[in-house]
Amino acid sequence: MSATKTALITGITGQDGAYLAKLLLEKNYRVVGAVRRASTLNLPRLAALNIDRDVELQTLDVQDLTSIVRMIETIQPDEIYNLSGQSSPQASFQQPLYTGETSGLGTLRLLEAIRLMNVRARFYQASSSEIFGQAQGDMQNETTDFRPKSPYGVAKLYAHWMVINYRQAYDLHASSGILFSHESPLRGMDFVTRKITATLAQIACGSQEMLQLGNVDNARDWGFAGDYVEAMWRMVQQEVADDFVIATGQTHSVRDFVNRAATVMGFDLAWEGRGVDAKGFDAKTGRQIVGVSPHFYRPSEPDPMIGDASKAHRILGWQPKIDFEKLVIMMAESDLERARNGQVWY
Ligand code: NDP
Repeated sequence: MSATKTALITGITGQDGAYLAKLLLEKNYRVVGAVRRASTLNLPRLAALNIDRDVELQTLDVQDLTSIVRMIETIQPDEIYNLSGQSSPQASFQQPLYTGETSGLGTLRLLEAIRLMNVRARFYQASSSEIFGQAQGDMQNETTDFRPKSPYGVAKLYAHWMVINYRQAYDLHASSGILFSHESPLRGMDFVTRKITATLAQIACGSQEMLQLGNVDNARDWGFAGDYVEAMWRMVQQEVADDFVIATGQTHSVRDFVNRAATVMGFDLAWEGRGVDAKGFDAKTGRQIVGVSPHFYRPSEPDPMIGDASKAHRILGWQPKIDFEKLVIMMAESDLERARNGQVWY
C-alpha cells in the first residue's frame, strides 16, 4: 500500500521521535527522520521499537539553515514535527547558548525555511511545561502566564512565541504542544525517572551501590510518551492550528516515584530525614540505597506544576491511557530486565 502522507521528524533518534515514528508508520505515513551527522548513528530507540529499517534517515542539524532547506526541498513533507534540540532543563544551565541555538533558534530556522520556500507543510513544535517555570495558579493551561526558570524554558518560550507569530503573520499551519513531562523505557538517562529506574535496577543486580538524587520532594505531572505523541498527531490534523497543553492533571513526588520503582525491584524502602538529609534504606537489609546530593539541585527549581489539558480533551478528543502506577512499573521492569542481561542502555 502506498504511503498516505510524508512526515519529517526532527529529533527522531530521541524518545518522542521513536514513539511518534512508530505511530505514523502504523498510520501508513512515509516517515523521514532528520538525524545529526555523527560518526555513529544513534538508533537504539528506533531499534527498540523495531522500526529502524522502516524509516528513511537524512542528515540535518537545526543549527544549519542550508541543511533544513535542502531536506524540505528533497522530501516535500506534508507534516513537519520539530522534536529536536537540547532537551534537558538541568543541562541547559551548563549549556545555555547551545540550548538557545538548538531549542530556540532551531525552531525559527525551520519556520523561516517553510515561509521562504512557500511550502504548505503543517508544523508541530515540541513546546514544554518548563515555559511556565514560576507557575501561576493551581493548574496551568494555555492562558497561564509564562515565567520560565531555566535557559531551556526561556529557549522553548522563544520558540513557542515564534510559532504563534508565524501562524498569525504568515498564516502557517503551526501548532505548539505545551507538553508536561512524559517518560518511558526509552527516556534518556539524564532525566530523573530513568536515572531512578536504571540505577535501582543496577543496585538490585549488584552492579551499583547507591542512587544519588536532587530534591526528592519535587513534584511533577508525569505521563507516558506513547500517549503524548498521539496528541501531537491529533494537533496537526486540526483544520485550524492552535496550541494545547498536554498533561495528566496529577502530580507525584520524586520520592513517590522512587518508592514505587523500588518495590518493583524487590526493595522495601524506608525514608529518614528531609531535604538534603533525606536517606532511603532497604528495610529488609538496613542498607542505605538512596541519598540526596545538592549537586543534583538545579540553580533555580521550577515550582510544582499540574497541567490542565481540558482543551485537548475537548477539541482533540485526547486522553492519556497509561497512569502513573503503570508508567513506573513499565520503566522499572524494563530496566530490571536490562540490568539482569548486563545491558547498559543510554
Ligand atoms: P530527546 O533528548 O530524547 O531527543 C532530542 C532529539 O533532538 C534527539 O534526537 C537529538 O539527536 C536531537 N537533536 C539535538 N540537537 C539537535 C540538533 N542540533 N539538530 C538536530 N537534531 C538535534 O528528547 P525527547 O524525545 O524527550 O523530547 C522531544 C522534544 O520534546 C524535545 O524538543 C524536548 O525538549 C521536548 N519536550 C520533551 C518533554 C519530555 O518530557 N520528554 C516535555 C516537553 C517538551 P541526537 O540523537 O543526535 O542527540
